[in-house]
Amino acid sequence: MSAGKIPFVDLGQQYQALKSEIDAAVTAGMSRGDFILGEDVAAFEREFAAFCRAEHCIGVSDGVDALQLALRVLGIGPGDEVILPTHTFIATALAVWQAGAKPVLVDVDPRHYTMDPEATARAITSRTKALMPVHLYGQPADMDPLLDLARKHKLSVVEDAAQAHGAEYKGRRCGTLGDVGCFSFYPGKNLGAYGDAGGITTQRGDLANQLRILRNYGQQPKNVHPLKGFNSRLDNLQAAILRVKLRRLEGSNGYRRSAATRYGELLRDSKVHTPATAPYAKHVWHLYVIETDNRPAVQAALDAAGASHGVHYPTPVHLHEAFRDLGYGRGSFPVAEALTPRIVSLPIFPEITEDQLQRVATACRSV
Ligand SMILES: *Cc1c(COP(=O)(O)O)cnc(C)c1O
Repeated sequence: MSAGKIPFVDLGQQYQALKSEIDAAVTAGMSRGDFILGEDVAAFEREFAAFCRAEHCIGVSDGVDALQLALRVLGIGPGDEVILPTHTFIATALAVWQAGAKPVLVDVDPRHYTMDPEATARAITSRTKALMPVHLYGQPADMDPLLDLARKHKLSVVEDAAQAHGAEYKGRRCGTLGDVGCFSFYPGKNLGAYGDAGGITTQRGDLANQLRILRNYGQQPKNVHPLKGFNSRLDNLQAAILRVKLRRLEGSNGYRRSAATRYGELLRDSKVHTPATAPYAKHVWHLYVIETDNRPAVQAALDAAGASHGVHYPTPVHLHEAFRDLGYGRGSFPVAEALTPRIVSLPIFPEITEDQLQRVATACRSV
């Protein structure tokens, strides 16, 4: 067996490769004394909007704030319901609660793990104000049927694109399909800062203006407060780092795609189920999630091979203690409940080598 642990993501190695550019970008910002809503924030917002082919980007402090602020500018709050999938990171649901609205959960499609449009249609009530699809693992949700429902029932659409920087649905970038797209730049995401960071994309100028006011104490211009707001600004040093990494994003997403293709080949005709790419999707492989009938054995084999692994996510939102008050229970969402004990996330990151991919696949096949 080849030596060396296989990390889940290798942020240290990535920094070494970009060190001179990152250090120069950070030092330049500090030398200018440009820390809050500085030059790099404005430049990153332009550059990330261009990358997404969006009209506007507003930098905010993190992904959950992006979602929360998006709901607020859409006028969603107490008494309103927002529909989202139960199989997601809990932050999606927390954002709805933070905005004062009620999360209404739906099950996911068993093949692609994203929000099931038929279940969504059944969950719409007179109080529903928005749909919040999640482009989970880097694969877009099936947006056309969701956008049809939104048009028919006059609902807003907030995309949780925290795992989908650069992903496309029928040729359109995630973050430009609904009213608002919300991104996290948490370090381990496909585009990651060196701390918390987030961004919001939109085609609508009215929402962009309000979001710029809302993230900065509801202020515009200085000392004038048309709205009650938040301190939720993208940090200028993080923006400087993100600008360096954004220049590599297309390339690093390409490396992830090659790694995913290679896993597919190496695991063909094995006992583990490899993830399906939908015909409408350009997948960016934030995570490579397999299904297995014997998760403990696959996890043990990966451990023995020195390969890191994870589970995203072991518990659907409706089974967390924190959301017990929503009134769901075991049996409420059978697809998500059947899925969560079967999934394992294998290591995938742009720098992963052929040798590492083979070691992981061999470990999976040994079960
Ligand atoms: C990471 C993530 C978030 C939250 O982003 P933070 O920047 O950590 O607040 C929200 N939704 C999904 C699907 C995520 O993966």
